[in-house]
Formats: sequence, structure tokens, C-alpha cells
Amino acid sequence: MGVINIKSKEIIDKLSKSNNASREELLFLIDNLNNEDKEYLVEKAHETRMRTYGDSVYMRGLIEFTNFCKMDCVYCGIRRSNKNADRYRLTYEDIMECADIGDKLGYKTYVLQGGEDPYFTDEKMVEIIKGIKERYPNNAVTLSLGERSYESYKKMFEAGADRYLLRHETATKELYESLHPGANFENRRNCLKNLKEIGYQIGAGFMVGIPNQTNDDLVNDLIFLKELDPHMCGIGPFIPHKDTPFKNETAGTVDKTTTMLALTRLLLPNVLLPSTTALGSIDPTGREKGIKAGGNVVMPNLSPTRVREKYSLYDGKICTGDEAAECRMCIENRIRKAGFRVEVTRGDNVLWAKSNKVNETSKNKVKVHNLIINKL
Ligand code: SAM
Repeated sequence: MGVINIKSKEIIDKLSKSNNASREELLFLIDNLNNEDKEYLVEKAHETRMRTYGDSVYMRGLIEFTNFCKMDCVYCGIRRSNKNADRYRLTYEDIMECADIGDKLGYKTYVLQGGEDPYFTDEKMVEIIKGIKERYPNNAVTLSLGERSYESYKKMFEAGADRYLLRHETATKELYESLHPGANFENRRNCLKNLKEIGYQIGAGFMVGIPNQTNDDLVNDLIFLKELDPHMCGIGPFIPHKDTPFKNETAGTVDKTTTMLALTRLLLPNVLLPSTTALGSIDPTGREKGIKAGGNVVMPNLSPTRVREKYSLYDGKICTGDEAAECRMCIENRIRKAGFRVEVTRGDNVLWAKSNKVNETSKNKVKVHNLIINKL
């Protein structure tokens, strides 16, 4: 048996008390973490989540509504250049059906995710958001549609969208540009700032183990997150996809991903932190390990089973054959077995909820948008 590294312990204690650490300290930890340090890090991340969210794990119903994409992200299976991708779009009616199933299963948040598909104009998105909100005014709508203009984000927010997930992918400019041909590093970051300014709860995030990523790059990600202070943060391992230039690369590891989850929990104690499907895809108990390291969100799939395989970002994605109800049961059992509590409320970020006067009763959630407050 090894022993805990005194310097690592000091840094973890500092992180746990002040929710901050310097660039050098973060790099030291990631470079030198041994098994005992890691155990201590996870213990402290767990204590922090118990203080902020308790043992709750929030469920979000994921609707993957299009795999058309105009972007060409080198790592992604639905990139424009992948001619083998079998493209699909869900109709308005399909999406409402997913929302109905989700509501019956008790989900209070929908995540509408897709490639950057120009077919889904602002008008179409507004119609979809309003359609869901008219049916289920108490349910939250989270969007994850990539980069759009300030005006577009604003129209969708005014139509009722509550949250927006836009991983920053990497906070290192050169790495970002090598992974995203034709995309603009500053624009992605500006989108996150615009979304926050408009009033969305925003989610940033990154992949762990993407080819050419160094520990220095991961520290850049943590520092960027600390500065941005997002309400949510999606962190998952990179996994190769057979029809991309990264097909022969090695996937990120559970160990490194859970280290990054735990560090993020300590840096941003109030953040909503998904334990991702990608983590469950590289290890049968990956999502449980993510939850134990500070994760407090899971996103069971609500997409129709006929399209699940087609939304193929990486190889070996789990849950592609399960009906929505099976997905819910499976993930609930896993959460309970791991010693946590399944929570099917809206699950807003705790600080956001306080400053936006969300009345979180167990039966009903009443949201008062910044926008409405401003109008009074
Ligand atoms: N188009 C939207 C966007 O750009 O934010 C949302 C959809 S995008 C496919 C969702 C996320 O999938 C990305 O932010 C990326 O981090 C993740 N992803 C894509 N390819 C992946 C891969 N090969 N391994 C792990 N995650 C991947």
C-alpha cells in the first residue's frame, strides 16, 4: 500500500476549503496523483457535493433530434465529412411524443441536443420550445445546438428555453483550432458569455484524453471554468469513432475523467455535473464512478430507439437499444445501488435558483425569469 503525498494533500485541502488553487498547484496534482491522493480527492469532492446538493442525482431526458451537422469537428462521428453517417431529423410531432413519454416517466427537464443543423431555423426552434412549454410549463428545456447568433439565442430564450449546454471543448487555442477546422476559438467562448448574459443557465465542458491534450491543457480547462463560473459542466472521456481521422486513437480513461470531475466539483461547488453516457460507455460502472467523484446529473435517453444508433458521436455508445422506460429504470437502479438518491425535479443550479427566486416545492416549480423581473 502506498502513502498519501503530503503536497497533494495540502493542495486538496486548500481546494476543499477555498474552492481555489493556482495553476501550478492544479498541474502538480494532475501530474503526481497516486492512488491514495486520488482516494482523498474523491472523498473531498463527495463531501463538497453533500454540502451543496446532498445525495441527489438529477435526471434529464435527452432528445437527440438531428444528426445533420455543418461543422467538421475532427473527433465527432456526425461531422460533416462523415459520408457513412445515416442522417435523420425528428419531426415536431416526434419531439412532442418524446416530451410526452418523458413527462410520463416523471422527467422535469428535457435536453434537446443535435448537430449544427441549419434546417432548424430560429422559427422552427421557437415553435418546438413553445410546443413543449405549452404542454409542460413546469418542465425545463435545455438546448444543445452549438454556436448561434446572440439574436437567435435570445429568441429561443424568450420562447421559454431555460438552459444551454455548449462545451468549450478545450481552453487551449491551438488545440481547439486543430480539432475544429474552420471554427473560431473566440466565437465559442463568446457564445457562452452571450448565453449567460441573456439569462440562460449555461453549461460549458470538455473531453478528457482527446489526442494531443496535455495536463497543461486540462489545467487551462479548469482555470477557464473557474473564471466563467458556469451553472453546469459536461466532462466526458474522448472515445474514437471509426469514421473519423481519430479512429485509431486511444480513448480517455475513467481514472483521468473522474479526477477532472472531482477537481471541477471542488473548484465549482455549486455546479451541476453530469456523469456522462461516454463515461458509462468506456466502463460498465463508469457513471457510478462519476457520481461518486462529485457528479450529480444523468441524462437517460428519450430519443426514439429507431434513431439511437444513428446519433453516433463515438463507437460503443451504450443504451442504444433500450426503450426510454428501460433507460430510466436501469439508471435509477444504478444510482440507488451506488448509495445516491434519484431526483426528478427540475434540478436548477442552487445559486441560480436562489437569485431567480425559483420556488422549489416538491410538487411544483415556479420560475421567475430575470426577463420578467426586469419588465416589472
Ligand atoms: N452540436 C452541439 C455542440 O457543438 O455543442 C451539440 C452536439 S455535440 C455532438 C455534443 C458533444 O459531444 C460535444 O460537445 C463533444 O464534446 C461530444 N463528443 C463529440 N464527439 C465525441 C467523441 N468522439 N468522444 C466523446 N465525446 C464526443
